[in-house]
Amino acid sequence: MRRAQVILALVVALLVLAPFVLPAYHVTLLNYIGLAALVALGLVVMTGVGGIVSFGQQAFVGIAAYTTAALTTMAGWSPWAGLAASLVLVALSALLIGAVTLRLSGHYLSIATIAWGIAIYHLFGNLPLLGQFSGIDNLPPAAVAGFEFNTGRRSYFLIWCVLIATLVAARNLLDSRPGRAIRALRFRGVMAESCGVDTSALKLVVFVYAALLAALSGWLTAHFLRFVSPHAFGVNAGIDYLFMAIVGGASEVWGAVVGSAVMTILKEWLSDLLPVLFGHSGNYETIVFGVLMLVLLQYARGGLMPVISRLLPDAPAGPVAHAPALERRARAAAGTPLLEVSGLTKTFGGLTAVNDIGFSLRAGEILGLIGPNGAGKSTTFNLVSGSLAANGGSVKLAGERIDGKPSRAIARRGLARSFQHVNLVSNMTVLENVAMGAYLRGRRGTLAAMLRTDRAEEARLLAEAARQIERVGLAEHMHDAAGSLPLGRQRIVEIARALAADPVLLLLDEPAAGLRYGEKQELSELLRGLRAEGLSILLVEHDMDFVMNLVDRLVVMDFGEKLAEGLPAEIQANPAVIEAYLGGIE
Ligand code: ADP
Ligand code: MG
Repeated sequence: MRRAQVILALVVALLVLAPFVLPAYHVTLLNYIGLAALVALGLVVMTGVGGIVSFGQQAFVGIAAYTTAALTTMAGWSPWAGLAASLVLVALSALLIGAVTLRLSGHYLSIATIAWGIAIYHLFGNLPLLGQFSGIDNLPPAAVAGFEFNTGRRSYFLIWCVLIATLVAARNLLDSRPGRAIRALRFRGVMAESCGVDTSALKLVVFVYAALLAALSGWLTAHFLRFVSPHAFGVNAGIDYLFMAIVGGASEVWGAVVGSAVMTILKEWLSDLLPVLFGHSGNYETIVFGVLMLVLLQYARGGLMPVISRLLPDAPAGPVAHAPALERRARAAAGTPLLEVSGLTKTFGGLTAVNDIGFSLRAGEILGLIGPNGAGKSTTFNLVSGSLAANGGSVKLAGERIDGKPSRAIARRGLARSFQHVNLVSNMTVLENVAMGAYLRGRRGTLAAMLRTDRAEEARLLAEAARQIERVGLAEHMHDAAGSLPLGRQRIVEIARALAADPVLLLLDEPAAGLRYGEKQELSELLRGLRAEGLSILLVEHDMDFVMNLVDRLVVMDFGEKLAEGLPAEIQANPAVIEAYLGGIE
């Protein structure tokens, strides 16, 4: 801990002293690094963490730079008014573009950002009002109380203060309720939705956030250089920003600074050195960058930051602080119908995976759903929880139709689930993963997270997560990365996550798979305890012994249809079930 503080103090001291001891040329270089790092930071959060790849960030830099340039030189606005206008205009453009392009999946989104970057470049270059390809010059410098940021040194302090503030805010964001949801966006969108996250809306928020960082950079650039021209905002610049984020390490916020420093310095250095080596002038550095990128993607996909992090001391995680308990949901009286499924049908192409399934579950009971592999149990489960849309039939939760609703809306009504194929964010800790489950029990958003005004609520969410982790017996793994646990244990983490939602109905898909005998006994005890507390459970399971001694009633499926329903003893004696399922195992 102490070593970390020493390193931090050292870095701060170096940053403060740098402009006084370095020659002007190097200060300018540091300014360029800071300006690029702002854009790269947006990409770290959006692309590295959130998985949304954009080649078009330079367009937002450009829109902001041109907005402030036009308003300050032609309309006589102050640079600060120009900043406000830039941010508003960029936010609006990002909302518009995001609303259209974020619906596109995979590489279509990236292609759309390229197209949009090209369009903006030509817009700047061709509008006579914006000075066409020669741009706009004579911008006023920004000033605070008569102090003008009109030299490289003075601009340095402005640029780096803004950068450090946004870095701290980004770290705060990623370590919060909305931050956990952002970290789940890339690979675990279905899980995030099942915890109540509106992932489409969240992607739009992240897109606008990254655009606003680009806008800050654009505004700072315009008033630092005192002129704007379209050349700085071409498609090449967009690719450079993405390179920086990847080189630095696209999943850690400081990677933005490392990446932009390495790329900016290397570019300067190579553009001086290479023409001498080759005896011609030319953009040789681009070729070198291309090769470097290939090497990096081959050997260090995580970028440089993970390598640097390994050299830095870890801050050990302390125990989770106590905090007032979160409010709890009212539970339905035992015995009242809680889940009513009827006529549920789902086809995948020509395959009818679930055919006219109907059953009901009463509050306070554990209902088992069993059947041979491929019988349609998981599909039924996904239809009930809203992760899949049914072709027909109805599902009622506490008397209310929930079929056709998105899983996040069903989660809001008190249904929580685990996944057969474990659905954890593997680089988040067990604690953070379980806290995802309590997403709907908090309400603080991105801005509160960045400013850390969410801490009281965050403490309650984490305390709740810690309680559930202790309850399922994983306290010793609280701060371990979820992906480092054995698969059986990861299933238990999924149960803890579901419990953190304070559900009325818990859906578990093969929770005992991969557990040892003793662990299965413990899980059995846990589920009995939950039932005793009034929780209702729908359990999909393969392990017959585990199910028979635990559940109140059973529904048996085979080839997508309901084969039988009844008490465990009845099911065990049912010849059709023995034939289809028990026989099938032998
Ligand atoms: P179970 O959980 O009982 O083992 P599933 O519900 O996973 O069975 O699968 C039922 C059937 O539906 C299987 O034949 C499976 O191959 C098929 N199936 C499941 N999900 C999909 C999907 N997304 N696309 C196509 N077929 C699927
Ligand atoms: Mg299954």
